[in-house]
Amino acid sequence: MARRRESDRWRIKPRTKLDLSRIDTRSTAGAPGDKQQTKDASAVLRARLAQLQARLYAEGEQSLLLVLQAMDAGGKDGTVRSVFAGVNPQGVRVVSFKAPSQEELAHDFLWRIHAQAPHHGEIAVFNRSHYEDVLVVRVHSLVPEEIWRPRYQRIRAFEDLLTVANTKIVKVMLHISKEEQRERLQERVDDPVKRWKFNAGDLEERRYWDDYQAAFTEAIARTTTHACPWYVVPGDRNWYRDWAVLTILVDTLERMDPRFPAAAEGVVGTIVE
Ligand code: AMP
Ligand code: MG
Repeated sequence: MARRRESDRWRIKPRTKLDLSRIDTRSTAGAPGDKQQTKDASAVLRARLAQLQARLYAEGEQSLLLVLQAMDAGGKDGTVRSVFAGVNPQGVRVVSFKAPSQEELAHDFLWRIHAQAPHHGEIAVFNRSHYEDVLVVRVHSLVPEEIWRPRYQRIRAFEDLLTVANTKIVKVMLHISKEEQRERLQERVDDPVKRWKFNAGDLEERRYWDDYQAAFTEAIARTTTHACPWYVVPGDRNWYRDWAVLTILVDTLERMDPRFPAAAEGVVGTIVE
């Protein structure tokens, strides 16, 4: 048995009966202390993440893919900003998936996703992902159930394909409450700095809250595997969420154990000129 890691707290094991409504979105369970102490711990984790990323890049043999999903205003952008603040931008690529273009729709649903998979040595972060094809697509019946339902299996096969190519996939749902979403959307209306993010469509989407929760539940339950686990992170408190995602990434990279390559034969001595 692998030793227990801090991040196991949020990991959804295969065959667990998942009930998102029973996960406390305001939880701070396991946090190293109060808000400030947790932020201090996150600073340490950020430095550790930067070291591990440097090794991953230098080694050039494996890659990491972080998939971020959440309800609207769930904190995906803020998580990316905070978690990767200390990492060399050369080694991390963030990809945001929007509603598919005509060209993307003229291909299979994984075509645009596969094209953005990280190369060896790289960390890729998907801000939304192929999971939208069983979330928004399901909630709004953008394709019939005969099309979206087999996608769980197709997603598992796709993620397995990346896994055997040395890509470690971790999937994180930032889980906020409906009340927290209301407050955040209201803030987007009230705060001139956040107003650009306000999208009247988000109010329409909010009416489908329960349908989205059901779609998330099934997507997570059907695609969490030992190799490509889902984590559900309580997201109402940003400082806890950031610490949790950092913990998950550091645990994952430590397990991947990237190594600086050994010096090539004969590369020793002093460069004199
Ligand atoms: P945002 O992340 O706020 O910029 O919004 C991106 C929008 O793209 C969201 O409304 C998503 O639901 C939508 N989106 C992303 N992927 C898909 C997809 N595969 N099919 C339909 N809509 C999508
Ligand atoms: Mg949005």
